[in-house]
Amino acid sequence: MRAYTKAFSISTKWGFENRSWNKVDNHNATYKLTRQSIPDLPSSLVQGARDCACEALKAVKCETFPERKPLSAMRYNQRVITVNLVHGIATIASTKGRIKATFFVPSNYRDYLSWSIKSSTISYDRRNKVFYLHISLEHSDPEKIADLNILGIDRGIVNIAVCSDNRFFNSKKTKNRRARYAYLRKELQSKGTKSAKRKLKRLSGKERRFGTDVNHCISKQIVNSEYTVFALEELSKIRVQKRRGKEFNSKLNSWPFYQLEQFIRYKAEAIGKHVLLVDARYTSQKCSNCEHTYKGNREGSAFLCRKCGLEIHADLNASRNIAQAGISCLSRLSCQPAECIPT
Ligand SMILES: [Zn+2]
Repeated sequence: MRAYTKAFSISTKWGFENRSWNKVDNHNATYKLTRQSIPDLPSSLVQGARDCACEALKAVKCETFPERKPLSAMRYNQRVITVNLVHGIATIASTKGRIKATFFVPSNYRDYLSWSIKSSTISYDRRNKVFYLHISLEHSDPEKIADLNILGIDRGIVNIAVCSDNRFFNSKKTKNRRARYAYLRKELQSKGTKSAKRKLKRLSGKERRFGTDVNHCISKQIVNSEYTVFALEELSKIRVQKRRGKEFNSKLNSWPFYQLEQFIRYKAEAIGKHVLLVDARYTSQKCSNCEHTYKGNREGSAFLCRKCGLEIHADLNASRNIAQAGISCLSRLSCQPAECIPT
């Protein structure tokens, strides 16, 4: 990792000084020098570091000098790493030749070992002195959607997920844990000491792992239902529109919502089901019964339609609108293929 970082900085230095993120130019200018100064680093890793450097330069348009910590995560292409997911063995190019390492695949991911490997990253946890191998996998042939059995899912803060078939995913345990984390975080933040900062970091790791676990559990239950298509709001689009104000903004900024989507997606694809992202506009204001759209229909978690009188939990109403949007999206599919292709 240290050698890789050294190669990275040789490339970034040249790119920064010459205001260029062109990979070929960078290669021509730095390759020989890098090989000479770090002879132990395999050439494909030198190239990997160079590509990484050029991408970092491009990201900042050469305005600032991209820094890399000596033990930052490294991306490995298929030439420098061989991964056997089934047996949990990886052979990795290193400064000491190819080394063989074994790894453990968490049970949540065991069903996907037959998928093809897209990319690999190795990171190092200094505190626990362990290396992590991150693999992203790809499923090549999603099946065609046969029937329109759609489930709408509304993601939220109070209720993590509410489904159009009346299922609410929230638990006292989750709520309590979240509240405790929030309290501890506030306490530690107000202290501001070095040790408090360290504890804060550890806390956020714990919180993250807990959230991941919850998302695994919820996505599994959703995907294993009788539904074949799962409709969710497209979060990236809402960011611009800001239709739902404060609640939605915090919703967008937090990773658990995106992670839940990812988990539903890959668990669904593994068994030939689909995820559909729909336009989220008005999902909270619109009545899922008569389509009357009015801001005042919703008050906190209560939804009361001023036109037809429907009284329903606001999140459930939203999830039904999402399901409805999914259905119209699928039926439009034949004439407007670019609009909303199930992904
Ligand atoms: Zn209504």
